[in-house]
Amino acid sequence: MRIADLIAKTPKFVSLEFFPPKEREAWPGFFLTARALTAVDPLFVSVTYGAGGGTQANTLEIVSRLKADLGLTPMAHLTCVGADEEKIAAFLDDLARAGVDNVLALRGDPPRGTENFVPDNERFKYACDLVGFIRARQPGMGIGVAGYPEGHPDCPRIGMDLAHLKAKLDAGADFVVTQLFYDNREYFDFVERLAAMGVDKPVVPGILPIMSLTSVKRILGMCGASIPGKYLLALEEADKKGGADAVRKLGIDWAKRQAQELLDGGAPGVHLYTLNKADACLEIVGALSR
Ligand SMILES: Cc1cc2nc3c(=O)[nH]c(=O)nc-3n(C[C@H](O)[C@H](O)[C@H](O)COP(=O)(O)OP(=O)(O)OC[C@H]3O[C@@H](n4cnc5c(N)ncnc54)[C@H](O)[C@@H]3O)c2cc1C
Repeated sequence: MRIADLIAKTPKFVSLEFFPPKEREAWPGFFLTARALTAVDPLFVSVTYGAGGGTQANTLEIVSRLKADLGLTPMAHLTCVGADEEKIAAFLDDLARAGVDNVLALRGDPPRGTENFVPDNERFKYACDLVGFIRARQPGMGIGVAGYPEGHPDCPRIGMDLAHLKAKLDAGADFVVTQLFYDNREYFDFVERLAAMGVDKPVVPGILPIMSLTSVKRILGMCGASIPGKYLLALEEADKKGGADAVRKLGIDWAKRQAQELLDGGAPGVHLYTLNKADACLEIVGALSR
C-alpha cells in the first residue's frame, strides 16, 4: 500500500529509518534490532541506499526481508548516483515483485572527499528526474522525497529550495520526509511556507536523537542542519558533569519533547533516524502520548 494512503488514515504515527549494515556478519543483529522495533508499530520503515557505502542490492534484500519476515511496510531509498534508466527500471521492477510499494527518491550526496555533486547521467541530475521516471515506470508506486526545513546546503535561497521541493511533488511524489532539525519552529515555518505555495501533501518530520558529543560534530558537518546554541551548551555541560551517560539522557529527553511537540502541533507523524539502534527509539516512542 502507498505510504501516503496509510498516513491519511493513521494520525500521529511513528516511522523508522534503517541503514543496511555493510558487513554480512552484522545482518542477523540488524534483523534482531528491526524485530525489537516492531514493538513501536511503525507505519513504515525506510532503508537507505548509498549513504555510508550501502549498495542497491543490499537495500533491495533488506526491504524484501523486512516485509516478508517481519510484516513491515518498507520504503527503499533510491538515488541518482550511478543511475541509468536500465538499472533504475530493473530495481523498481524488483521492488514491485517483492511487494515493496514505496520508494524515497533522492539525488544523493557527492562522494566523500568531494564538494560538488556531479551527476553520473544527464537524465538523472536531480531527485525530481527520478520521481518522474518512477511515476512512469511503476505508476502505482508510492513516492516520498526529501525536504530541508533549514534549506538544502547547495541552494543559495530557501525560497528557491522550496520551489524545487514543490517541483518534486508536482512531478508525482506523494509526501515529504524532512532532514533532521532540532528546533521545531524550523519545521512549522517550513510547513506553513509550503502550504502558502499550495502544497497540501504530508510533510513528515525527521528526528535524530543526539547520543554523543562526537555525533553532534558529525551532524553539523553533514547536512547543513543546526543545533540551537542553548541545546549545544546544555550538551557540553552534561558531558562535563555526567559524561557520556548524561549526554545520552539529555539527547533522548530532547527527542521525546521534540516528537511530542511536533505531534501536538499537527505533524502527521514522526520519522525516527534509528542508526540501527533499538533502545533509544523504544524509550522515545514509549514516552509519547498519541
Ligand atoms: C529523509 C532523507 C533520507 C536520505 N537518504 C539518503 C540515502 O539513502 N542515500 C543518500 O545517498 N542520501 C540520502 N539523503 C541525503 C540526500 O541525498 C542529500 O541531502 C542530497 O544532497 C540531496 O538530495 P535531494 O533528493 O534532496 O536532492 P534534490 O531534490 O535533487 O536537490 C538537491 C539540490 O539541488 C537543488 N535543485 C533541485 N532541483 C533543481 C533544479 N531543477 N535546478 C537547480 N537546482 C535544483 C535543490 O534546491 C538542492 O539544493 C537523505 C536525505 C534525507 C532528508
